[in-house]
Amino acid sequence: MNVVEKLEAADPSQEDRTQSIRDALRDAIIDRRLAPGAKLAEHEVGTLFDVSRTLARSVLQMLAYEGLVRIERNRGAFVASPTPEEARQVFDSRRLIEPGILRTAAERLTAVDIKALRVHLQQESRFMNERGPTARRAEIKASGDFHLMLASHAGNAVLLKFMDELVARSSLVIALYGRSGVSSCGHNEHAAILDALEAADVEQACLLMLKHITHIEADLDLRISEGLSLKDALVT
Ligand SMILES: [Zn+2]
Repeated sequence: MNVVEKLEAADPSQEDRTQSIRDALRDAIIDRRLAPGAKLAEHEVGTLFDVSRTLARSVLQMLAYEGLVRIERNRGAFVASPTPEEARQVFDSRRLIEPGILRTAAERLTAVDIKALRVHLQQESRFMNERGPTARRAEIKASGDFHLMLASHAGNAVLLKFMDELVARSSLVIALYGRSGVSSCGHNEHAAILDALEAADVEQACLLMLKHITHIEADLDLRISEGLSLKDALVT
């Protein structure tokens, strides 16, 4: 153990530090400031955040567990580049989980909660109308947050953590395969889901959610990496 590591080990706020570095890197990946495939060198992460390589490594391992970072033997860590198959699995998982979340959340949602979700949607559409990379990032984050806000109302911490991971991985997949380069979370679709919840029409809300997830997936171009020749990819 070197001096930095000894200091870190003796520091009770160490866990907070790890968490805040993990959050900063995670945000940069989800915001697409760090591109899929980008190298994440331990010593660079360590220098940047003024921590030891050991701590930097453990942060990178945390992100690898969440599927956002890929660690290769003898090569180091990289921002993950999900394959088309993994991308499909992420959206399949969301189609399985999110209707369940809606059903549970619908039983617990109060008028105040609905109002808070409406305010959130207004914010989302404000970002959508603004130009520039900062507004774009804010919009992407806000559209993911809508799904997480719904999940938080299901009152199940395990489920919320799982959704957090799925939303983060979706963002990475959209960064890699998104055609339009926007969040792909149509604001109107979010509003329609909320309308159905407010009208206590849970089945309609679930149906709209399934369509919404399928729309996000349909906006991706998963073909080129699947072995289409470049010529075919350019023609179609
Ligand atoms: Zn959405």
